[in-house]
Amino acid sequence: MEICKLRVALDGPSGAGKSTVAKAVAAKTGLVYVDTGALYRTVGLYAAEHGIKMDDTQGIIDMLPEVEIKLAYENGEQKVYLCGEAVGNKIRTESASAYASAVSKIPEVRAFLLDMQKKIAAGGGVIMDGRDIGTVIMPDAELKVFMTATPEERARRRHKEQVEKGIDVSYESVLENIIARDKQDSEREAAPLRPADDAVYFVNDGYDVEGSADYIIDLMEKRASGLE
Ligand code: C5P
Repeated sequence: MEICKLRVALDGPSGAGKSTVAKAVAAKTGLVYVDTGALYRTVGLYAAEHGIKMDDTQGIIDMLPEVEIKLAYENGEQKVYLCGEAVGNKIRTESASAYASAVSKIPEVRAFLLDMQKKIAAGGGVIMDGRDIGTVIMPDAELKVFMTATPEERARRRHKEQVEKGIDVSYESVLENIIARDKQDSEREAAPLRPADDAVYFVNDGYDVEGSADYIIDLMEKRASGLE
């Protein structure tokens, strides 16, 4: 099998570098990178823009029929349209992250986004990142990687990023947040974060983006030649 036809599921906690690494893998192999977190962020954005509070579960469920999401791939980049308008960086704010996390806990929201993700996966030639890609969206993916890093390493990276953006925050508080988020993500009832039984568990402490991407590409090559 050619590696550009593989379906690669990349799951793991936030801060492990999934999206950056997936983009690097896509650029080197010709796979399409699909960012599924963007879909939850977009549902969250709709709620925020319509004054629906993030703890108003019924309000969020009731608004779903109005939420029209389209994905487009332009120059190898994923673009998300919400009711005909590109969401751009509006889904990348702190508030959008909090909304995304809240809506992603609601089973009806997960069901609402399921078909769209499964359809994209069916075409093959994709690397999709998220939390439930190997377990729910592409349980038959040719390669599943659960990529993580120790909480300390993820906190170090996140802290560095924030300091570079001029945000005044202590390493300890970043670490505390990461530990709390991990607990919430792995203990939530709907699609808790857990590796698929057949996922390759990759702890990328000490790897840079390039190194992590090469590690995954190596796994892809081995998997593809095994499927010949
Ligand atoms: O990956 P990202 O940080 O953009 O994800 C935003 C939110 O959506 C996170 O809270 C994450 O738990 C949730 N999510 C999810 N399932 C996915 C992708 C993201 O629950 N497949």
